[in-house]
Amino acid sequence: MKKILNYINGEWCPSSTGKFTPVLNPANGQVLAEVTQSTQEDVDRAVQAAKNAQKEWRLVPAPERADILYKVGYLLKERKEKLAQILTSEMGKVIEEGRGEVQEAIDMAFYVAGEGRRLFGDTVPSELRNKFAMSVRVPIGIAGLITPWNFPIAIASWKSLPALVTGNAVVWKPATETPMVAEEFVKIYEDAGLPKGLLNLVNGSGSVVGNAMVDHPDIDLISFTGSNEVGKEINGRAGALLKRTSLEMGGKNAITVLEDADLDLAVEGILWGAFGTAGQRCTATSRVIVHKDVKEELERKLLASIEGLKMGDGLDESVKVGPVINRSSLERIDEYVKIGQEEGAKLLTGGRIVSENGLDKGNFYAPTIFTDVTPEMRIAKEEIFGPVVSIIAVTSLEEAIEVNNSVEFGLSSAIYSADVNRIFQAMRDLDTGLVYVNAGTSGAEIHLPFGGTKGTGNGHRDSGVASLDVYTEWKSIYVDYSGKLQRAQIDNN
Ligand code: NAP
Ligand code: MG
Repeated sequence: MKKILNYINGEWCPSSTGKFTPVLNPANGQVLAEVTQSTQEDVDRAVQAAKNAQKEWRLVPAPERADILYKVGYLLKERKEKLAQILTSEMGKVIEEGRGEVQEAIDMAFYVAGEGRRLFGDTVPSELRNKFAMSVRVPIGIAGLITPWNFPIAIASWKSLPALVTGNAVVWKPATETPMVAEEFVKIYEDAGLPKGLLNLVNGSGSVVGNAMVDHPDIDLISFTGSNEVGKEINGRAGALLKRTSLEMGGKNAITVLEDADLDLAVEGILWGAFGTAGQRCTATSRVIVHKDVKEELERKLLASIEGLKMGDGLDESVKVGPVINRSSLERIDEYVKIGQEEGAKLLTGGRIVSENGLDKGNFYAPTIFTDVTPEMRIAKEEIFGPVVSIIAVTSLEEAIEVNNSVEFGLSSAIYSADVNRIFQAMRDLDTGLVYVNAGTSGAEIHLPFGGTKGTGNGHRDSGVASLDVYTEWKSIYVDYSGKLQRAQIDNN
C-alpha cells in the first residue's frame, strides 16, 4: 500500500505517531493510499525547519526566488496529466476539470514568478528637500496554509507561490481527503530545487494539526480556505494571538436570469455552475433567480439538457458529473433535499442517492433542481455543497439583486441579460467579490483577486496581485540626504 509521509526540512518522514489513515476514491470506495497522521510535535519540527530556512531565504533576491517558481511551473506543466489523474481519483471531479485545475496552478506559478521582478511598492516625493521616500514589501516570516479538498492543488498554489516569492517559509496542512496530490505538488517544489525547510508538509486532521498551527507562536499568519464554521474558529484563536488570518469560506452563489436573457446560454451556465465538480465548488451555482416571465421556459430547457449529464467515475472522459467527496457529504446533501421538500419547495428532478449502474460503491447524488423556492427557505440560504440548485422567481432586476444579496455569503454572482443598462446596474449592486456577466458563477482567472464579501471572507484575497498583501508587511522608508534635521509637517510649514 502506498504510504504518504510528511515533508519536513527537506526529508520525507512518517509522523511521530506512526499512525496512518486510508485515502479513498470517492467514485468506488477503493483504498488508494494511506496517509500519516501527525501531531503537535510534527508541527513543532516543521516550524523549526521553516524558521531556520527563512533566515536565509528572506535575503535571496526575489528574482532569484522566482527562478525556482518558474521551474515549478514547467514541472507542473510536464506532469499535468499525472496530477490530474491523481486529483480525480482522490477527490472525484471529472478529469477535464482536474486538468483545468492543474492548469490553474501552472498559470499561477508563471504569474507569481513574474512578480519576483515586480513586487512593486511606491516611491513618492518627500515633502522635504533632499529627502527620499518609498515603501517596500517585506516577508512576514512563516505562513501556515490550511487547504480544502475541493481544489487541492489550485488553492495550494494560490497560497504557497505568493508566500514563497515574497520571502516567507511555509508550513502546509492539506485536507485529510487529498494528501496524494499534495505530495506530488511538494515533490515538484523539491525537484525544482527549493531549499530545504522552506516548504513543509504536515499531514493530519484539522483538529490536531490545524489547531497546532493556529496556536503556534512562531507561525505568523494563517491562510485558510474551507468552511465558515472552521474559519470562524481559526479567526478567534488566531485573533487572540494578533496573528494575521486570510480566510476564504463558503458561498451561496446565484445566477440571475432576466426576461431578455439568452436562455440557452443561461442553461449552459447553470448546468456547468450547479453540477460541475458535483456542486462542490465554493463558487457553485446554488440559486437561480429568474424573472417570472421566463421561469417556465427556463425550467423546460434545464430539464431537457440535464438528461445529457452522464454520472460516473470522473476518469471516464464521457462523464460529466462525478461523485461527492464522502459518505457523510452524501447524507448531508440528501438531508437538505428532505428539508427543501418539507419547506414546500417543488422537486423538479433528482433528489436521490444514485446506486444503480454500478455506482453503489461510490458517493453519487443525482443532479437536483428545486423550483418555487422562496428566499426564506433554508435551501435558499445555507451552503449545501452538492449538486442541488434552487429556482427562485422574481419580478424585477431590483428584486433579483435584493434576493441575491440577502444571504450571509458574498462570493460569486452572475447575471444573464441583453440590456447594457441593467447589466451595469447589477455590476454595481451585486454584493459579491466576483461578478460574471452572461457567464456562470465559476471561471475565475488567476491574475485577478479571488474572494468574497460578508460571511465568505475577512477582506483578504487569494490570487492576483492582491494575494501579495496576505504574505507581506509594508515598510515605509525615508532617506534624508540633507545633512540636517528636517522635521516633517513642521519645518516645511
Ligand atoms: P473544512 O472542513 O473547513 O476544512 C478545510 C481545511 O481546514 C481542511 O484542511 C481541514 O482539515 C482543516 N480543518 C478542519 N478543522 C480545523 C480546525 N479546527 N482547525 C484548523 N484547521 C481545520 O472545509 P471542507 O469541508 O474541507 O471544504 C468545504 C468548504 O470549503 C465549503 O464551505 C466551501 O465553500 C469552502 N471553500 C471555499 C473556497 C473559497 O475560496 N471561498 C474555496 C474552496 C472551498 P481536515 O481535512 O483534516 O478536516
Ligand atoms: Mg471538514
